[in-house]
Amino acid sequence: LVRLRARLSRSQNTLGKGLLTLLSREHLDEDTWEEIEDTLLTADVGVGPTQELVERLRERVKVLGTRTPEELRTLLREELLTLVGPDMDRTVHTETKGPVDRPGVVLVVGVNGTGKTTTTGKLARVLVADGKSVVLGAADTFRAAAADQLQTWGKRVGAHTVRGPEGGDPASVAFDAVKEGTEENADVVLIDTAGRLHTKTGLMDELGKVKRVVEKQGPVDEVLLVLDATTGQNGLVQARVFAEVVDITGIVLTKLDGTAKGGIVVAVQRELGVPVKLVGLGEGPDDLAPFEPDAFVDALVD
Ligand code: GDP
Repeated sequence: LVRLRARLSRSQNTLGKGLLTLLSREHLDEDTWEEIEDTLLTADVGVGPTQELVERLRERVKVLGTRTPEELRTLLREELLTLVGPDMDRTVHTETKGPVDRPGVVLVVGVNGTGKTTTTGKLARVLVADGKSVVLGAADTFRAAAADQLQTWGKRVGAHTVRGPEGGDPASVAFDAVKEGTEENADVVLIDTAGRLHTKTGLMDELGKVKRVVEKQGPVDEVLLVLDATTGQNGLVQARVFAEVVDITGIVLTKLDGTAKGGIVVAVQRELGVPVKLVGLGEGPDDLAPFEPDAFVDALVD
C-alpha cells in the first residue's frame, strides 16, 4: 500500500496553504472569513461542515489572540481532523459475519467510469498480498470490456474470476461467484457490479437483486461505494441514489490524485453517514490506500 501522505501532499496542500495564509492575516475581518469560507467551499467541503469549521476557527482564533504560524497550523490541523472524523471505523470488513466456512463477501458498487473495476482489482491485490485467497465476480455484464478487465486483474494478482455471458444476468454471476468461492474455500469474494445510472429504477432492480441473490447464500459483509473525487457535487447525488438502493458500509474515493478538492471526503461522509475507507491515488496496481485521517490532514496543512 502506498503512503497516503506522501502521495496526497502534492495535490491537496493548496487547501491547507490557502487557509493558513488567510488565517495569518493580521486583521481577520469579515472579508477574510468569507474568503476562508470560499476556500473551503471550493475544495468541496460542503456548506454545513464549512460553517461549522469557520465557527470553530473564529472562536479559537479569538481565544488565541496573537498567533504564531506554528500555533495556527496546530489549530487548523486539530479542527480539520475533527471534521474528518478520526474515530470512524475504517476497516474494510472482508471476514464473514456468517458461518466460518463461508468466504467474506464484498460488493463493489458505483457509477461506471468511477473506477469500480480498477478498485476491485487493486483490492484483490492487497488481500492476496495479505495471504488471502480471493475469487472475483464479474457482475458488470453490461460494459463489454468490464469482465475482461477484471479477469486481467485476476490473472495478475492470482485470483480466480467468475464471469457470465455478455449481457447476462448480473445477479446470477454474483451468485455463482459466491458459490465458487464457498466451494473453493476462498477467504474473500469481491463482486464488481454494473453502475448504469440512466434509469434509477433499473439500477434499483438490478443492484437490489444482486444483493438479495447473494444473501441467499449468506451475509454480504461489506458494500463499498466507489465515487470519483473529481466529480464534486455530482458524486454526492450519485451517492444518495445508491444509498437508497443498498446499505453502503464504506466509501472508496478514487482519483484523489487528480484533484485538489479533498474536501469531498468530509462532504460525502456527512451525506451518507458512512466512512471513507479507501482512496485511489492513481491507475497503477499499488495506487490504493487505506484512508487515514491523520495522514490526510497532515497532507493538507504541511
Ligand atoms: P468502472 O467503469 O467504474 O469499472 O471504472 P474503471 O475501473 O474502468 O476505471 C475508469 C478509469 O479510471 C480507468 O482509466 C482507470 O484507470 C481510472 N482510475 C481508476 N481509479 C483511479 C485513480 O484512483 N486515479 C486515477 N488517476 N485514475 C483512476
